[in-house]
Amino acid sequence: MDKNERKLIWEKTDGKCYYCGKNLNIKWHVDHIEPVMRSPYTKEMHKPQNDNFENKVPSCPRCNRWKHSQSLEGFRFDIQNLITRLNRDFSQYRMAKDFGLITETEKEVVFHFENKESGYVSILTDNEKRYIKKALMYGIDFSGNHNERQALKNAITKLRL
Ligand SMILES: [Zn+2]
Repeated sequence: MDKNERKLIWEKTDGKCYYCGKNLNIKWHVDHIEPVMRSPYTKEMHKPQNDNFENKVPSCPRCNRWKHSQSLEGFRFDIQNLITRLNRDFSQYRMAKDFGLITETEKEVVFHFENKESGYVSILTDNEKRYIKKALMYGIDFSGNHNERQALKNAITKLRL
């Protein structure tokens, strides 16, 4: 990947992790929202069609590793499931909880790019956000209705994708 493309990917969020929103340091990764599914042996991409600029976002190494070859919704589910895993696997966690040191919530996992306060997607209308989300989940469908197409095009322009 050339330096210019890396710079443009960084600018998508002004140097914040696309998922958790932390400031990126020099070791930031380029993540594919829709995974390219690399072979563990040859590193060859099973889905090279996902290796395009629209699909590449800046990520901290931690989110990149956690997401691995999962879809966005798979990654969200993984994080959503953390409290269940902590309760199942760690007696220290259960002890701390039973003594009131930890309060669990049922908050939904919201990624940085979906967060209104991030300033990153707040430039989008609710419609544009809805269609962007749909596109992230199911792929961009330009054969859909006119409103959807227009909203997606507007969103892509606004996000400088
Ligand atoms: Zn992150």
